[in-house]
Amino acid sequence: MNLHQPLTVLPGVGPKSAEKYLKLGIASLLDLLLYFPFRYEDFQTKNVLELEDGEKAVIAGEVATPANVQYYGFKRNRLRFSIKQGEVVLAVNFFNQPYLVDKIELGQTIAVFGKWDKKKASLTGMKVLAQVEDDLQPVYRVVQGVSQASLVKVIKIAFDEGLDLLLEENLPTVLLQRYQLMERSQAVRAMHFPKDLAEYKQAVRRVKFEELLYFQMQLQVLKSQTKDEGNGLSMLWDEQSLKEKKASLPFSLTEAQEKSLAEILGDMRSSSHMNRLLQGDVGSGKTVVAALSMYAAHTAGFQSALMVPTEILAEQHAESLKELFPELNLVLLTGSMRVAEKRERLAAIASGEAEFIVGTHALIQEGVDYAKLGLIIIDEQHRFGVGQRRILREKGQNPDVLMMTATPIPRTLAITAFGDMDVSVIDQLPAGRKPIVTRWVKHEQLPVVLDWLLKELQKGSQAYVISPLIEESEALDLKNALALEEELKAYFSDRARIALLHGKMKSEDKERIMQDFKEKKTDLLVSTTVIEVGVNVPNATVMMIMDADRFGLSQLHQLRGRVGRGDKQSYAILVANPKTESGQKRMKIMTETTNGFVLAEEDLKMRGSGEIFGTRQSGIPEFQVANLVEDYPILEEARRVSAQIVSEPNWQEQADWQILALNLEKKEHLD
Ligand code: ADP
Ligand code: MG
Repeated sequence: MNLHQPLTVLPGVGPKSAEKYLKLGIASLLDLLLYFPFRYEDFQTKNVLELEDGEKAVIAGEVATPANVQYYGFKRNRLRFSIKQGEVVLAVNFFNQPYLVDKIELGQTIAVFGKWDKKKASLTGMKVLAQVEDDLQPVYRVVQGVSQASLVKVIKIAFDEGLDLLLEENLPTVLLQRYQLMERSQAVRAMHFPKDLAEYKQAVRRVKFEELLYFQMQLQVLKSQTKDEGNGLSMLWDEQSLKEKKASLPFSLTEAQEKSLAEILGDMRSSSHMNRLLQGDVGSGKTVVAALSMYAAHTAGFQSALMVPTEILAEQHAESLKELFPELNLVLLTGSMRVAEKRERLAAIASGEAEFIVGTHALIQEGVDYAKLGLIIIDEQHRFGVGQRRILREKGQNPDVLMMTATPIPRTLAITAFGDMDVSVIDQLPAGRKPIVTRWVKHEQLPVVLDWLLKELQKGSQAYVISPLIEESEALDLKNALALEEELKAYFSDRARIALLHGKMKSEDKERIMQDFKEKKTDLLVSTTVIEVGVNVPNATVMMIMDADRFGLSQLHQLRGRVGRGDKQSYAILVANPKTESGQKRMKIMTETTNGFVLAEEDLKMRGSGEIFGTRQSGIPEFQVANLVEDYPILEEARRVSAQIVSEPNWQEQADWQILALNLEKKEHLD
């Protein structure tokens, strides 16, 4: 027998049922063996004080009041009793299982599996357990036509036939020894039918490592291929000019900026291809680092291009680059430019007269030819799809690529979603910045808060007020914003100039209102969450967010980043009466940290990766057993080992690693 044979070779499995298993993706014996339970019924007992509302768990305790059954209507009844766990007495209710009454004796210790209702301090029982010890029962995902019981039975048959012994080891012996990993066949058996909790844990550890190692091997191989693509540029930038340019800045770079810059410059000098992501909170100083890299390319005789998502941002960046490098010839290229003007600029780009090029998507459109493009920098890469990234890389002479993002991506996701890229992180703000003070207030406190806000405005500051987010309905969103504007106008009357900004406005109107705010023609900007990314109003020092608990942590952090851009003390005021525990927790975390990475990590834990990036960024892989957040240490170790293996010359031919190369080739691991 071999594991690639169909299920029908098993005794008792006919073609009809084999067909049903196809719906679960199980075609071969190997598929069956590797179809792991997605969870186990965990019958370990828990302490009632540690249970979350709605959690299912086993509670053991002494029966404290005798069981009685109440009948109310046809076949409907409730069995009630209470158990005592330590000092805590809790009520237990079983619905429509009156026969259990015989199993429950006063004074006896029993274990009940059920669902915890925190408010009522009661457990809705689902099962009375015979034994209290560890007992892990596998639970598989099933479909119509395949029941839990039949699946368990077939898997048991497979093991009885000794099929697990046919499983070939797919991890190198060196790694099994180094990490003390269980062998594959034993692990696979224990994934289905663990002898005890300890064995189960070891099996899971092994399987996770295997999954993550193969995943990382793939990425590292891809990465090394990108680097080897040949004709990568080696830009021999001039050390001295760069040093002088740095010295001429009105500040010295932070340690994190220096480190990131050095990483980028190293990539540029080397003849391999740069594919790097630069991450850092708003205001951490990414732009300066990018600008210095552009300058370095210039000293090596190359052009650089900076691509940003909107025209306002393109103009903003062009301004600050001109300030830093007045001696250089900078060309701005946007979509809305007049034809004649555009033609002139395209000519400058093609002749090499243009040294820095700044623009929107227009930069990568047909008809843009670069004389000697060495470096492309993409700001806010979230808005650029994979296809566009590719076009970019095919432009010019295979330029080095640097992407910048102000959305902190938890390291876990950065490694996975961008695993073929190198990552630099600026995790430190320039010295002397006053951290934004964040306060969480309840709606009842609004009058006090508004009095305080008025005083801030009277001192000459400006403020944003964000209306509650209604994701389901744009119409309601707008209605809320309008109502809020009315309320604030009524409250402040002629003591503050108030403007409204919302998503349904035309973009010219939005820009005009933003411009007025920037020029301090208005004091208070009421807005839905449309505030343009990157727009800079240093005089705005208050960010007030209504019903802040409706927002995710990453969103709140982005909003908060709109203030704290000048010398004055800035504030974020979260107005919220959260109903859920998660809402309360989010408000609390926001007041405790301003570190975007910490918040992104928390957000990920609380909401899952999909929520942070939305559907557009769904390139994030899913694993059968491993979990990107919880298994981060394993992921990181797998990455470290893979990178090291792939960096060895001819690693595929080395005895130790052959097995990996072979399996990667077979793609048995990959979907
Ligand atoms: P980011 O692009 O990450 O949002 P910027 O590069 O625009 O940040 O920097 C924000 C502001 O901080 C700019 O006004 C910039 O001149 C200033 N800045 C950048 N680096 C430093 C530093 N090391 N020390 C002091 N100020 C800095
Ligand atoms: Mg910037």
